Amino acid sequence: MINRYRQLTFWHDSLPGELQPRPVLDRDIEADIAIVGAGYAGLWTAYYLKQIDPSLDIVVLEAEIAGYGASGRNGGWCSSHVTGIEKWFEDPQHKAAALHLQRLMFKTVEEIGWVTEKESIDCHFDQSGALEIAVQAGQLNRLKQELAHLRELGFGEEDYQWLDAGEMKALLDVDGGLGGFRLSHCAAVHPARLARGLADCVERMGVKIYEQSPVLNIEQKVLTLPAARVRAEINLITTEGYTANLAKHRKRLTPIHSMMVATEPLNQEQLAETGFKQRYTFGNFDRATTYGQLTADKRIAFGCRGTYLFGSGIRTSFDPAEPVFDIVRNTLLQFFPGLRGVGFTHAWGGAMGVARSMQPSVHFNPSTGQGWAGGFFGSGVAATHLAAQTLADLVTGQDTERLQTPWVNSPDAHKIWEPEPFRWVGIRYTRAMMQVIDRIEYRSGRFSPAVCRVLDRLLP
Ligand SMILES: Cc1cc2nc3c(=O)[nH]c(=O)nc-3n(C[C@H](O)[C@H](O)[C@H](O)COP(=O)(O)OP(=O)(O)OC[C@H]3O[C@@H](n4cnc5c(N)ncnc54)[C@H](O)[C@@H]3O)c2cc1C
Repeated sequence: MINRYRQLTFWHDSLPGELQPRPVLDRDIEADIAIVGAGYAGLWTAYYLKQIDPSLDIVVLEAEIAGYGASGRNGGWCSSHVTGIEKWFEDPQHKAAALHLQRLMFKTVEEIGWVTEKESIDCHFDQSGALEIAVQAGQLNRLKQELAHLRELGFGEEDYQWLDAGEMKALLDVDGGLGGFRLSHCAAVHPARLARGLADCVERMGVKIYEQSPVLNIEQKVLTLPAARVRAEINLITTEGYTANLAKHRKRLTPIHSMMVATEPLNQEQLAETGFKQRYTFGNFDRATTYGQLTADKRIAFGCRGTYLFGSGIRTSFDPAEPVFDIVRNTLLQFFPGLRGVGFTHAWGGAMGVARSMQPSVHFNPSTGQGWAGGFFGSGVAATHLAAQTLADLVTGQDTERLQTPWVNSPDAHKIWEPEPFRWVGIRYTRAMMQVIDRIEYRSGRFSPAVCRVLDRLLP
């Protein structure tokens, strides 16, 4: 059993100490607040609820172990980016609130740094920033446009700095790097250390966590588990990519899988090949996202490629020999051809939660006592922190500046996914188109921008 969890990812495998599951809930209990899911969203919500009112009786119910889901498996970009915020920027009705959200997200990255330090959560937090790198002319064009747009929105050099090819190479020697920008508000973290450390921390604050205790149903303030029932006035759902397993929430979020690999620790020569000056997170500007980081023990953890399984299926195990991991490994080697021959020690995947609006939401209904935070897609390491603070504000009736953000109780959060097979066709089409457009951009160099602009319009 212990090995099953250790083998999930490099992150779980490199956790210190025992990975012994906490007790299963096997008797009926009552609580003030029940939180379903022990990822960052659930655990930070418990943390901030306890900060506001230490007397609250809070239980967290987790189907596997804390950090089993995306929170233990991700790329460790603790970044200020919020999925779908661009859509809010473009909407005059939401623009001001979206700018406010973005500013709060800048602060949240730093806050995670000092809260984890204060709580002795050793998650290898290192705010060296994120490098978004162009490796062909089309990407360079798009990155320049992106930066111009960010400047128009009022974000300055202290947030995003342009780096020409030489300046970028001085920080990280990515093959064919033509320049790009550095986002200051991003830290590299060890994701599972953050999740597991946070679980220990909230437990010390008096929160009860039950592991291997899946919630099967929530009805009239009663949560039903295989061997117990929990009665709680307030129940909060933070099950993200796994939400489709919960009755009545099946179509709110859908799981998209992303795939990752980790190398063995790089030796001095290999490190010199990559040119890492600090622990930057890095990616190129592909539409089908790529993301990497240098871990504290000098490996590269790297991910890309997403898949959707018919009927919102969720994969729980991954075989490093699967062809998709060859693609991920080769994509990393295209960044750093000098690493050819490096050993890869781990390969894994994980499910991210995607809302139909393609935007995350924080929702609470005081009359039913039910709430959620979810839909973070590939940008949830930092966003879950702010969302959890916001959810704690809503539940306890605090009036904070966090509530003036477009993701709070947004009507769009109630949009549901189309039934199958339309969902499968739509998502598969979008991902295939992204890959095709990327390929055209790589192959056709300077002719591609106009063609790609037209093709981009075909993306839903
Ligand atoms: C491979 C990968 C790479 C990523 N990279 C990044 C990145 O670099 N940067 C970034 O910002 N974001 C990244 N993300 C996204 C980020 O990890 C997530 O947005 C974030 O972790 C979501 O946290 P969460 O607490 O909402 O969900 P999760 O961490 O998924 O937690 C949900 C929990 O609920 C539990 N659960 C589910 N159903 C039940 C039930 N019925 N009863 C009880 N418990 C249940 C699950 O077991 C799980 O532990 C990545 C995600 C993946 C998968």
